[in-house]
Amino acid sequence: AAKKQGGRRVAFFRQELGEQARHHLAIDRALRRALVGRQFLVHYQPKISLIDFSLEGFEALLRWERPDHGLVPPGEFIPVAEETGFIVPLGDWVLDEVCRQQREWIDRGLASVPVAVNISPRHLRQRSADDFLRILDRHGVPPELIELEITEGAVMQDLDHALQVLGDLKAMGVRVAVDDFGTGHSSLSYLKRLPVTTLKIDRSFVQGVPHTREDAGIVSTIIAMADMLGLAVVAEGVERPEQAAFLRHHNCTLVQGWLTGRPQPASAAMELLADRIRERA
Ligand code: C2E
Ligand code: MG
Ligand code: MG
Ligand code: MG
Repeated sequence: AAKKQGGRRVAFFRQELGEQARHHLAIDRALRRALVGRQFLVHYQPKISLIDFSLEGFEALLRWERPDHGLVPPGEFIPVAEETGFIVPLGDWVLDEVCRQQREWIDRGLASVPVAVNISPRHLRQRSADDFLRILDRHGVPPELIELEITEGAVMQDLDHALQVLGDLKAMGVRVAVDDFGTGHSSLSYLKRLPVTTLKIDRSFVQGVPHTREDAGIVSTIIAMADMLGLAVVAEGVERPEQAAFLRHHNCTLVQGWLTGRPQPASAAMELLADRIRERA
């Protein structure tokens, strides 16, 4: 009976897998159509200094304006794109779109802060520094205005390649941040060798601050470690004033989160850039 039941379970599992594969195939087809049909857009979330609330940068966050579905968040399609390989042309598109936008802001005299682009593990594995730099060159965007966000996992998948690509990019002036820091599998000996400029403390740790002892310990330790390694540090997912107070007290002055600004369309991001120029004039 056990064997029979096991057999049934396997059959059920197969059917489930089949359904999931079909579902992924359908999304992959829709994604490819969406790229041609210009259904992707980029929102920009500000990175803010807690010292004077000045704008210090943006993170570019991909959105899919899918007909009859509304604005689809990346969590619903990036994993599929990563699996099918579509993330490579899609990731190129995001970098190109961000460079196009920076070019427009340069021409208007507004570009003054870097925009960070998320680079997925597969995308990083399949591209060289030159591939990325060619996209910047196409729009005449200086490397200092672009930052790449990569995860520890992306680096660990092919360490030699990652060290080479990120090293070359950093040497050219492109900033490189480790995203979701603390959630991945890299060790401190790798971190020491990684050509990066910034650590982004993952939201899951920031969430528990200041009241959860473990989170408070982890966050303050990451901040101290970044400082000792000569890296900048940004706290992700800051939603409440008491989180900001804790971060500031521990000398993390750069934050990104609902508290200081949601991801917003390019037009709204441009207003923030214009304000910044006016404030500095
Ligand atoms: P991420 O790179 O860690 O981006 C930060 C995510 O946290 C964003 O979610 C942002 O909207 C969200 N967030 C920011 N502040 C807060 C806050 O205060 N509270 C909460 N609850 N959330 C906050 P989003 O836009 O849904 O993106 C999710 C993930 O999708 C990103 O995580 C990134 O891994 C991936 N992603 C987004 N755009 C791209 C892209 O262009 N390429 C690639 N490869 N991945 C992308
Ligand atoms: Mg990111
Ligand atoms: Mg992150
Ligand atoms: Mg995160």
